[in-house]
Amino acid sequence: MFNFKMETLPREELKKLQLSRLRETLRFLKNSRSKLKEKFKDLEPEDLKTLEDLKYLPFTTKEELRDCYPFAHIAVEPSECSRMHMSSGTTGIPVMNFMTARDVEQWGEIMARCLACAGLTSKDRIQIMPSFGLFNGGFGFHYGAEKLGCFIVPAGAGRTLMQLKLIKDLEVTAIGAIASYPARLIEVAKEIGYDFSKTKLRVAILGAETWSDEYRKRIEEEMGVKTYDIIGMTETGGVGLGIDCVAREGIHVWEDHYIVEIVDPQTGQVLPPGEEGEMIITTLTREGLPLIRYRTRDITKILSYEPCTCGRTHMRIDRIKGRTDDMLKVKGVNFYPSQIEEILLKYKGLSSYYQLVIETLKGKDEMTIIVEKIDQGLTQKELEQLELELYDFLGFRSKLQIVPEGTIQRVPGKAVRIIDKRKK
Ligand SMILES: [Zn+2]
Repeated sequence: MFNFKMETLPREELKKLQLSRLRETLRFLKNSRSKLKEKFKDLEPEDLKTLEDLKYLPFTTKEELRDCYPFAHIAVEPSECSRMHMSSGTTGIPVMNFMTARDVEQWGEIMARCLACAGLTSKDRIQIMPSFGLFNGGFGFHYGAEKLGCFIVPAGAGRTLMQLKLIKDLEVTAIGAIASYPARLIEVAKEIGYDFSKTKLRVAILGAETWSDEYRKRIEEEMGVKTYDIIGMTETGGVGLGIDCVAREGIHVWEDHYIVEIVDPQTGQVLPPGEEGEMIITTLTREGLPLIRYRTRDITKILSYEPCTCGRTHMRIDRIKGRTDDMLKVKGVNFYPSQIEEILLKYKGLSSYYQLVIETLKGKDEMTIIVEKIDQGLTQKELEQLELELYDFLGFRSKLQIVPEGTIQRVPGKAVRIIDKRKK
C-alpha cells in the first residue's frame, strides 16, 4: 500500500474524518469566490450533525459547472491555481477544473495509491498511454507514478507501433490506458506478429470508459496481463477516484478524500447499499473546485463497507455499468452499450470494435448492431445463437451486421459506440 495508515483506517475513524472534512469543505466554499456558494447561504457547517445529514444538501450538476464557464465555479482566484484540465463532452461548452498546487499534490497521492493497489512498486516501469493535455489522464498517471517512484515512459496517445516497440525494448511492466485502447494494441500486434508473452508486461490499468467483464477477460488472455479498473473524472480532480484491487471484489474509493452516495437518478433519493443508481461524489480535500453532491451520471451500486481481503478498509462500489447519458432507449427498452458488448464478446469470432446505430425508419425505432469479425467470424450456428441471445436481452429484433476487421474507424481517445440518428 502507498499510504498504509490512511488506506487501513478503521471505519469509525474514517467517518469522523469525513464529517470534519465535509464541514471544512462547506466552510471553505461558503467563504470563497465560487458562484456555487449561493446554494449554501442558509446553511452552516455545524448544521451537519452526522454524515447522514449530507442528504439534505442540494446537488451540483454538470450544467451548473458549464454555466459557470470559465471561472465562476472556481473557489480560489485563477491566479492562485497552477493548472487546469477540462472535459469537452458533446454540448460544446467544456467543464473546467482548476487545480491549486495542493490539488495536484492530492491527485498524486490518490493516483499513487491506485497504482500500488494494482500491485505496482518503485521497481515497475509504466508506459502512460492517455494523452498529456487538456484531458486529465496522462498527467494523472504521471503524478501517481512519480510519487510511487516508478520509471515512467510518457508515451501519450496513439502511435500504436511505437507503443508496442517501447513496451518491449524498455521492458515495460505496466501500462495505463483508455479502456478501449488495448483492443488496438492487440490488433496491431497481430498484424506485425508481435508476441506479448515475450515482453515483461504484467499489469494494465484501464479507465475513462465503461468496459465489460467479457472485454476484460479478452484483454487479459491476449496480452497476458492482469487488468485493473480505475475511475475518476475531470470534475472530481481527475483519474484516481478509485480502483479495484487484487481481490477483484469491487472498486475501492478513497474515502478520506471523497464521499460516495448512490441515488435514484429520477427522484434523487439516497439508495441503500446493493441498489443500483447514480453515483454522487462530494470532494473532501479539493481547493480549486470543491464539489458538494456532484451528479456524476455514472451508474453503479455500493458493494460493501466491510474491510476487504486486501486489507484496505475503504468502501467498494461495483464496476460502472454506464452513464445516464449513454443509456439507450429503443422501442421502450432501456439498456447500456456495455451490456451489448458483454453479449458480443462471448463469441471469439467477433472483435471488440462495434457500433450501435439507431434510426427512425417508417416512424419506428430500428437498431443495427455493427460488429467486426475476427478471422473466419461466426459459424451459422453461432450466428443463430447470438441473434437469439440479443433478442432475449433486448426483447426486440435488432439488425446484426457483421463486417470485416478494420471497417469501423479507429479513433484516438474514447471509442464511438453509439450513432443515434434520431437526435435532432
Ligand atoms: Zn481490496
